[in-house]
Amino acid sequence: MKKGIHPEIKDCKVTCACGNTFTCKSTKDEINVEICSECHPFYTGKQSRSSRAGRVDKFNKKYGFTNKEAE
Ligand SMILES: [Zn+2]
Repeated sequence: MKKGIHPEIKDCKVTCACGNTFTCKSTKDEINVEICSECHPFYTGKQSRSSRAGRVDKFNKKYGFTNKEAE
């Protein structure tokens, strides 16, 4: 690889809102996420939404939108 143009890749600790943590490679030391493979409905097989409000929930709340199908 050419020297001087590549960012430093290091072990990155990823912390999810559900409490799950795992490591990966990144240029950052730490990453906080709101959803991961342990709590995402696609992987868990559950249709119930996460109890923690994510960005979409915040957006919907802010603008008064409600998910009628979920209620
Ligand atoms: Zn998670």
